[in-house]
Amino acid sequence: MSEGSIRELDPKTVERIAAGEVVERPASVVKELVENSLDADASRVEVAVQRGGKDGIRVTDDGIGMSEDEVRRAVEKHTTSKIRDIEDLESGVATLGFRGEALHAIGAVSRLTIKTRPRGGDTGTELRVEGGDVAEVKPAGCPEGTTIEVEDLFYNVPARRKYLKQDGTEFAHVNDVVTSYALANPDVRVSLTHDDRETFATTGQGDLQSTVMSVYGREVAKGMVEVDPDESDENDSNLPDGPLESVSGLVSHPETTRASNDYVTTYVNGRYVRSGTVRDAIVDAYGNQLAPDRYPFAVFFLELPADTVDVNVHPRKMEVRFADSDGVREQVQTAVEEALLREGIVRSSAPRG
Ligand code: ADP
Ligand code: MG
Repeated sequence: MSEGSIRELDPKTVERIAAGEVVERPASVVKELVENSLDADASRVEVAVQRGGKDGIRVTDDGIGMSEDEVRRAVEKHTTSKIRDIEDLESGVATLGFRGEALHAIGAVSRLTIKTRPRGGDTGTELRVEGGDVAEVKPAGCPEGTTIEVEDLFYNVPARRKYLKQDGTEFAHVNDVVTSYALANPDVRVSLTHDDRETFATTGQGDLQSTVMSVYGREVAKGMVEVDPDESDENDSNLPDGPLESVSGLVSHPETTRASNDYVTTYVNGRYVRSGTVRDAIVDAYGNQLAPDRYPFAVFFLELPADTVDVNVHPRKMEVRFADSDGVREQVQTAVEEALLREGIVRSSAPRG
């Protein structure tokens, strides 16, 4: 390169840089694929990864599937069946994905194979993408639904490949993602396998409690306390006034804790988020019942008006900002305290400060 020259990047390079905005690591691929399966009305989603997802990621669903035409379009840039224009977006889309860039981006930085058959259709299609180019499309015998395989993530972006962490670390991120969707969708059978060993599988017939049992095990699930101030009184909600319209979920017995706060799982208006506000409120509700630096298990669903919360929808972030975070904190803490009081786990509400 001659010094000081400004050059145009070749399109392939531009594409891979853009792909890196969407695809950061194996867990981000898994997130996009699982969201697509749920959007496709699946009642079963199987996730299998090899070496933390670095060597292989496979997601199989029994959703609506795609015709040959649809799958060809699905891997193109900015193609989506989910919105047509910006008005659709602003009217509030029900689906999880709506940018129409995930499959295209994943295909640009991996070897991607899609096998799919539409519901009620009699033929299936297999489509292979390598480094962003469609390498092959052929008829394939496959069940209804879709299987997507992503091999050798970042094989053509060595700088990104190098930044991937050890298998165990990458797998921990994958596990977080799959767990969060499993807990939020008790009516979907979700399973996760790592290097051919099953990590968990939910039944899909579920209430939240049995899903928690499938994911975290019986020991954790059995002592869990239900938080549901809306249900505690026939006519009147016990939820104090504040920004939240509803709060519900499960929290663990104070003796069932972990040293990490990774097991406090929060959903805001159906979307999985990490929230320090909610986590602190839950922890404070236990008062002195929690040992120092220990965290409970919790699965928490909050609903509030969309204009009082900013959920950053960037694929790599799961951050949430409440317009009135003190109000949210107060309501969550009170709801958890009341549930723990009801079970006789705490004696009186912890002083708030
Ligand atoms: P988006 O989800 O934002 O629409 P994607 O790139 O993730 O964009 O997917 C593109 C399109 O491919 C989707 O709109 C959908 O029509 C189709 N698609 C992707 N995954 C599946 C799947 N598992 N089952 C059925 N259709 C799918
Ligand atoms: Mg998508």
